[in-house]
Amino acid sequence: MAIERTLTIIKPDAVATGHVGDVIKILESNKLAIVAARMVYLSKQQAEGFYAVHRGKPFFESLTKFMSSGPALVMVLEGENAIARLREIMGATNPANAAPGTIRKLYASSIERNAIHGSDAPETAAFEISYFFPGIELIPVSSLPCG
Ligand code: ADP
Ligand code: MG
Repeated sequence: MAIERTLTIIKPDAVATGHVGDVIKILESNKLAIVAARMVYLSKQQAEGFYAVHRGKPFFESLTKFMSSGPALVMVLEGENAIARLREIMGATNPANAAPGTIRKLYASSIERNAIHGSDAPETAAFEISYFFPGIELIPVSSLPCG
């Protein structure tokens, strides 16, 4: 098992409905340590840059509008198999298909407004982390209570 870092975003819908604390509670209780965090209010262009892999898809325009519609909390998480573990805790993209107890089952309202983002592979995690955080902002996990 490898210690990995992954990027998560508590999306504007979950921030607006007051679920930041609930989502963080779930992440922490699943041994994902927060090693960087930043509140952002993305411009449309910044949302498009983040979701560049989805450019051209039918939902791209609506997705990037949603992601730039209000504040979001961006975090880097660290832990054993953090990338896959986060994806598991998040649940399926469409909350209708998400397993009970997952963040999307609990807090998402639609396939678009689905509460949380998580990197899907080591390469995308590296790109996404560097999109928001210069290396100096990442603190050593050993200095955290769960480290
Ligand atoms: P995930 O976030 O689970 O990795 P994707 O990478 O496929 O999902 O899509 C990125 C985001 O785009 C999703 O989290 C969701 O907000 C939105 N999205 C994906 N598919 C659709 C769709 N069919 N209709 C509307 N929005 C979608
Ligand atoms: Mg994805």
